[in-house]
Amino acid sequence: MGGMKRGALAGEESAQRPATLGDLESEGVDVFCWCNRCGHNAIVPIESLIGPLGPAQPVPEIGIRMRCTACGAKDVAARPSWPSLGQVSNHN
Ligand SMILES: [Zn+2]
Repeated sequence: MGGMKRGALAGEESAQRPATLGDLESEGVDVFCWCNRCGHNAIVPIESLIGPLGPAQPVPEIGIRMRCTACGAKDVAARPSWPSLGQVSNHN
């Protein structure tokens, strides 16, 4: 099944791997962090993460390195804080 498509879409390739901090920085997107224990959540500026962690760091993995500022748990999930899509049709 290894039919490689010539001229594969760059977007298609990037969709198959988690976004990295470098990806978010280029898009101007921050990181949304969520504590699985207490539900505390915060949006962390990308600038404060890309410095110590580097642009190649996959976003889902940085949650492992973080700790909840509310309860101290290390059970933190991280994902890109993409601007909400689908509001185009919401015209009033
Ligand atoms: Zn917490």
